[in-house]
Amino acid sequence: MARRTPRASTRPERGAPALLWAPWRSAYVGKPPPRGAGCIFCFGRIGEAARRRRLVLNAGRLALVMLNRYPYNNGHLMVAPRRHVASPELLTREERIELGDFIARAVQRLRAAYRPAGLNVGANLGRAAGAGIADHMHWHLVPRWEGDNNFMPVIGSTRVLPQSLAETYALLEPLFKTIDTDLS
Ligand SMILES: [Zn+2]
Repeated sequence: MARRTPRASTRPERGAPALLWAPWRSAYVGKPPPRGAGCIFCFGRIGEAARRRRLVLNAGRLALVMLNRYPYNNGHLMVAPRRHVASPELLTREERIELGDFIARAVQRLRAAYRPAGLNVGANLGRAAGAGIADHMHWHLVPRWEGDNNFMPVIGSTRVLPQSLAETYALLEPLFKTIDTDLS
């Protein structure tokens, strides 16, 4: 059967890397959060239950790491500053150092947990660049495998990932417990 030309509604969002095209995200990405809605990266001291509900793996003094609720792939994480800032030049040097440590250690733990063939690590600054939450900058860490776009079949807007968010959280949470202190 001949392949159909993709319809406008299933086109990749502008600026999204083709390899990471995930059409189910477009409804979420295209719609700004409702006024008054809390920022997902901003919270004070929270207990274990709230951390799990928010998919937060670790919240350090200046940086945090959490699961992406709309993952491109298994183990899709986000690392963000604790402070609500939109761009890296607004960060202090101390924040940049802790964020760099969080990213390096998160990569190390993702390699241990998933043995990916590669990883995408990057940030979208501003809505035009594809940021879903533009006011609070964050880095995406996405484990990749050869041909992994084949194991994410997309039918309409339904995504099928082999691992649920609850399973991912249960797998990664113990590994990320010490990310803010461990220098391994
Ligand atoms: Zn925020």
